[in-house]
Amino acid sequence: MLNKFLKEVVGIIAGKQVEDIVDLLGTKKYENEFIIAKKLDITINQTRNILYKISDYGLVSSIRKKDKKKGWYTYFWKIEILKSLEFLKSEVEKRMKQASTQIEKREANRFYICKRCNIEFTEENAMLRDFTCNECGEIFKTKDNTKLIKELKKNLDKFEKKLEEVNVEIKIETDKIEKIKDKERKKEEKEKAQKREEKKIARRKAAAKKKETEKKTTKKKVVKKKVAKKPVKKKKPTKKVVKKKSIKKKK
Ligand SMILES: [Zn+2]
Repeated sequence: MLNKFLKEVVGIIAGKQVEDIVDLLGTKKYENEFIIAKKLDITINQTRNILYKISDYGLVSSIRKKDKKKGWYTYFWKIEILKSLEFLKSEVEKRMKQASTQIEKREANRFYICKRCNIEFTEENAMLRDFTCNECGEIFKTKDNTKLIKELKKNLDKFEKKLEEVNVEIKIETDKIEKIKDKERKKEEKEKAQKREEKKIARRKAAAKKKETEKKTTKKKVVKKKVAKKPVKKKKPTKKVVKKKSIKKKK
C-alpha cells in the first residue's frame, strides 16, 4: 500500500510515466543518482529534473559528494515517506472538498440543458436566455442531476476510504520514527548513566583514600582526648534518707 501511495504522489507531481522512480529511491539510505538514471534508462539530466520537481515539495532529500578526480558533485537521493504521505493526505482532502461542494451545488440548484447542443446552464443563465438556446433555438429542459449526484457521492466514499488508508500508513510511519527516536534517546541515557557511574566510582575511590588518611589523624586525636577527659562526679542522695527518718520519729 505504501509503495502504491508513494507512486501516486510522484505521479501527481512529476507525471505518471516516471512514478517507477519510487522503486529506485532509498527510504533509509541515499541512492546514487547515476544508478537511478541507469536503471530508469534515462539521462542524468532527465533524472535530476524529475527529482528537483519532487524536491520542490520537500518529498525527496539529497546529500552530495564531490568526486575528487573529476571535481564534480554526485547527488544521492532518498524519499521522505512521511512528508509524501502527508502530501497525499492533503491531496485527497482537497478532492473530497471539491466533491462535496459539487454535491451541495447540484442538490441545492436547478440546472438546464439544451439537449441538441449538449450545453448546460445554471438557472440564472437559463433565465437570461429565456430558456431558449442561442445556437439552435431549442427550448431548455431541466437537467436531471440524480445520476451525477450519485456518482459524486460514490467518489466521495472512495476518497473517504482512501483517506483512512493513508492515515493508517501515516500512523505506521510516525510510530517507526518515534521508535527510532526512542532508541536514540535510550542510548543517550545509557551513555549518560554510564558516565555518571564512572564518576561515582571515581568519587568513591577518592573518598576512600581521604578516609584512609583521616583515620590516621583521628586515631591520634582519640588518644589525646582520653588523656584530657576528666572523671564525672556522682551525686549522693543522702538528704532524702534523712528526711524519711525524721518523719518516722514524729509518730
Ligand atoms: Zn442548442
